[in-house]
Amino acid sequence: MLEAIHRNTRVVVDLSIIKQNISKLKSKLNPSKQVYAVVKANAYGHGMIPVAKAALEAGVQGFCVANVDEALALREAGIMEPVLILGLSRVEDAPLLASNHITAAVDSVEWLLQAAPLLKEIPLKVHVAVDSGMGRIGVVNEKELTEVEAVLRNGPFEFEAMFTHFATADEEDTAHLTKQEEKFNGMIGELEERPPHIHCSNSAYAIWHSAGDSDIIRYGIGLYGINPSNGDLCVEDEELLTPALQWETEMVKVKKLEIGDTVSYGATYKAKEPQWVATLPIGYADGYIRAYNKGEVIVDGVRCPIIGRVCMDQCMVRLPHEYPVGTKVTLLGKNKEEEITAIELAKRADTIAYEVICMISDRVKREYING
Ligand SMILES: *Cc1c(COP(=O)(O)O)cnc(C)c1O
Repeated sequence: MLEAIHRNTRVVVDLSIIKQNISKLKSKLNPSKQVYAVVKANAYGHGMIPVAKAALEAGVQGFCVANVDEALALREAGIMEPVLILGLSRVEDAPLLASNHITAAVDSVEWLLQAAPLLKEIPLKVHVAVDSGMGRIGVVNEKELTEVEAVLRNGPFEFEAMFTHFATADEEDTAHLTKQEEKFNGMIGELEERPPHIHCSNSAYAIWHSAGDSDIIRYGIGLYGINPSNGDLCVEDEELLTPALQWETEMVKVKKLEIGDTVSYGATYKAKEPQWVATLPIGYADGYIRAYNKGEVIVDGVRCPIIGRVCMDQCMVRLPHEYPVGTKVTLLGKNKEEEITAIELAKRADTIAYEVICMISDRVKREYING
């Protein structure tokens, strides 16, 4: 989608907050641990390159992304630090990764055997993925691991790390997590030789499980100042997570409804009394989805309900009184004493805060402050 630059609807990202969130995490960690900023999916909607640069200034040692193109975009922006692709890549892209010094997650001996003849001078850096109970990618047993390790050590590869991902690190009940930890530790024990790094920590694990034996922390949602458990578990140090993103728009029309007037598709909202309403230039094509209409926006520190259905590009809110066209409206973030969090929006739509911020579409202009 085209970025709408002639419209006063924007996401404002405070880069000093991103840096502060990283510094707070680092102050909690043993200094021997490395932090990799997870900037996949356009840095969870915040904008990959500005966030990556801020994260570097805050002292992260590397980056995690989801796919080859995200990794290449970091390189094109001049970022030279390690970049790990968390998902599996196509075998034909192995030379592209090697020549850009991008690290691949690998979980099969077949992949390595097919990649080996394609690799020329530069070895490919590899992190071996272990499936300890996430059921997504990774070697599943000792036999697979042993085979992968043998090929890695005898081919054009650099075996840099072994890693796993936990399915329930953000939950109160630790039974499944303990099983995963045991399986992962068992797999580490099967290695002929330990690679330089072992890692297993996402944000939730770093926040609630002291990052365990993970010597690289793959810090995603926490970087953006959002509680990984969607608010189910509390974070002791309140300063650890400060949201960096504000989503705001401005009233493009303000009008008075008379009794019986209806609003939006389906004419589901009918005025029971005369009232002021504003039309906002934001809709589900911007990632402000229809499910959000169960809630409110903030105008001048006061919550105002969304009325009628959210349209593709516009939506309407009820005002306590008349406001001038151009009045600022906060969709997500703080406005005076009031705040709408990503978790609040998520709950309206029966989803998680991760999805809310990733859904903010590229039609919405991103602006950066305190960079
Ligand atoms: C996305 C992802 C992360 C980051 O998770 P957060 O919960 O955002 O910290 C870490 N590791 C893997 C494998 C991931 O896919």
